[in-house]
Amino acid sequence: MTAIKLARRVTDIKISPSTAAAQRARDLKAEGRDIVDLTVGEPDFDTPAAIKDVAIAAIHAGDTKYTPVNGTPALRGAIRHDYRSRLKIDAADNRIAVGGGGKQILFLAFMATVEAGDEVIIPAPYWVSYPDMVIANGGTPVIVPCAEANRFKLTPAALEAAITPATRWLVLNSPSNPTGVAYTPDELRALGEVLLRHPHVLVLSDEIYDRIWYADFPAASILTVVPELADRAMIVNGVSKSYAMTGWRIGYAVGPAPLIGAINKLQSQMSSCPSSISQAAAAAALTGPQDSVDETVVQYRARCDYAYARLNAIPGLSCIKPDGAFYLYPNCAGLIGKVTPSGKVIENDLDFVIYLLESEGVAGIHGAAYGLSPYFRISTATSMAVITDACDRIARACAALT
Ligand code: PMP
Repeated sequence: MTAIKLARRVTDIKISPSTAAAQRARDLKAEGRDIVDLTVGEPDFDTPAAIKDVAIAAIHAGDTKYTPVNGTPALRGAIRHDYRSRLKIDAADNRIAVGGGGKQILFLAFMATVEAGDEVIIPAPYWVSYPDMVIANGGTPVIVPCAEANRFKLTPAALEAAITPATRWLVLNSPSNPTGVAYTPDELRALGEVLLRHPHVLVLSDEIYDRIWYADFPAASILTVVPELADRAMIVNGVSKSYAMTGWRIGYAVGPAPLIGAINKLQSQMSSCPSSISQAAAAAALTGPQDSVDETVVQYRARCDYAYARLNAIPGLSCIKPDGAFYLYPNCAGLIGKVTPSGKVIENDLDFVIYLLESEGVAGIHGAAYGLSPYFRISTATSMAVITDACDRIARACAALT
């Protein structure tokens, strides 16, 4: 067989650990193992029927062709309306890009701006894809560990210390995957003050979970709080999480026109546009009644509260309360050094998640994958029955350690 020489941009990155962990859980299930899968960062709800109906109608109406590269006028109008009404952000047409998921937009933003030697500041714990997206585009991720004592949030001092002349971007994700914590408006303002002193740094604010919100302070975008950053802040959002539309693949960004223009130029050569049918559905999601979002958030919150209380009651584990999203990121420091019934020492968070999987069939993801140990991530985007079962199993597994 001919050996295929792959490009560095591929050999330097890895498959997303969450995708890999979800696959491991699926494989074990297929082998007949009784697995409780808490790896998947995807709503367990179905896309609301009204949104599906719009997509079906779009097919029948012949909306089955290429759309403009920067999205259909209807979707752009819906995004503009959403940003104006919720966030008080003006999103003119030349400030909007739409793509095949927030993931594609993020990748294109780095592709449009990052070159060898460029640094991207990523606070840890981080969503697993950011560093690899930067590496795939030739840049250098600069990981800044953020202490649990500060709710895993980047401090202005740590930001200031991480900025160099080579810094291109700061990446923020609020509410965060994997911790669920969100920045308060005051915290965003304080980070913004640092950025205002460093005009060469762009800020990429991933707000994809901003509708799945539990905190008693208002959800805020850095662009609302620090409007002076309008010429270098890009806000990423999408319909995947809020509207249970992960498979429809629509994400979007609002940002400075030159950057958005570059993203659209790349998009024109990469995919021309995202699916016309999905765009019709996404426009309907953003402009239609929001009851489905409200109803699912009530359920996400109840599940999160329940799992939070259960995990905190387990000796050796502790966990901070999320402000939004559907994840918990428990600290397992109290179990490191303990011994499993089969005599293996738990040396790190990977050993712990492997032990959970092997002993009780609970699939989670180790904190090292998110850049901060010793923790593990569980997704609570699954039914209360599954979460209850999972908490029982985790409690049993932890109690069996000596
Ligand atoms: N950002 C974060 C923080 C996420 O967790 C995800 C999905 N896992 C995305 C972006 C991308 O979502 P999508 O591509 O489905 O819009």
